[in-house]
Amino acid sequence: MFATAIAGSLPKPSWLAETHRLWPRWRAEGDELAQAKLDATLLWIKAQEDAGLTVIGDGEMSRQHFVHGFLEQVDGIDFLNKVEMGIRADRYKAMVPQVVGPLRLRGRVHEAEARFLRAHTTRRTKFTLPGPMTIVDTVADRHYGDRRAMAWAFAELLNQEALALQADGIDVIQFDEPAFNVYMADAAAWGVQALERAAQGLTCTTAVHICYGYGIQANIDWKKTLGDQWRQYEQVFPVLARSRIDQVSLECLHSQVPPELMALLAGKDVMVGVIDVASDTVESSDEVAGTIARALQFVPRERLIACTNCGMAPMSRAVAEAKLRALVEGAALAATRLG
Ligand code: ZN
Repeated sequence: MFATAIAGSLPKPSWLAETHRLWPRWRAEGDELAQAKLDATLLWIKAQEDAGLTVIGDGEMSRQHFVHGFLEQVDGIDFLNKVEMGIRADRYKAMVPQVVGPLRLRGRVHEAEARFLRAHTTRRTKFTLPGPMTIVDTVADRHYGDRRAMAWAFAELLNQEALALQADGIDVIQFDEPAFNVYMADAAAWGVQALERAAQGLTCTTAVHICYGYGIQANIDWKKTLGDQWRQYEQVFPVLARSRIDQVSLECLHSQVPPELMALLAGKDVMVGVIDVASDTVESSDEVAGTIARALQFVPRERLIACTNCGMAPMSRAVAEAKLRALVEGAALAATRLG
């Protein structure tokens, strides 16, 4: 049987936040919001367990956005005065907070939801944090003047929180680095190094998720410009293969990523994206098993983890639930076919 996991985010229930949005507004505030976040977390822990996933996440119910959720607890960031900035090499515009001084963590960032997750499942748990390079690409810098130096500063803060998450009992700590697929040369030159700084001292399993973005229109349009062979992974995977990171999560189904690039990750566990998050069509077991079979040409079976291509935050709840079931049923079929 293959291990199964989600990349990270799941759709927020309509009573918690606006639906179908990447930066949704919360529906409550104060203590009421804190409780609603945990209620939604419990709902998705149960849904993942019912679907049969072997690794359970918090679905990122407690953060508005996968990067900005972390930044809200960082001193040196002006969150009140957001500015519009082109992100991911100007692929789309976002309202981002500004870095205005030296960065320092105010305290724990994800303690409540991490401990809640650990307390409510006996299965393996995974918790996600944004990677340093992707954070740098999702804030406006008015202080450091150098992306690499700022990434290093963020990596030190991420490391503090990651070590605390490990102490909370989390089994897998994953850093999300979609920026690695945009700034490939920088990723190879210093992005992976900053990632390793963020993971320094961790003895739990460490992972990095590198995708082509959420299933939003700007990303779908961008993918159409990438040609019939997406070779972005080719520059970063060899560097990751030499790193101390244990697992790599990549996009596979309905992508133009040549599957042989997975062979560049020899020695690593590979979370293969067998669920498309840019389509509401639910994958058949046959389709999921077929994607796993293609990946097995380049990934040893004991190293393959069936996963989603990316987070499912902007999707509908019903579709996401159906896709969780499709993921597990397809992985089971693939195992059966292998005998
Ligand atoms: Zn992703």
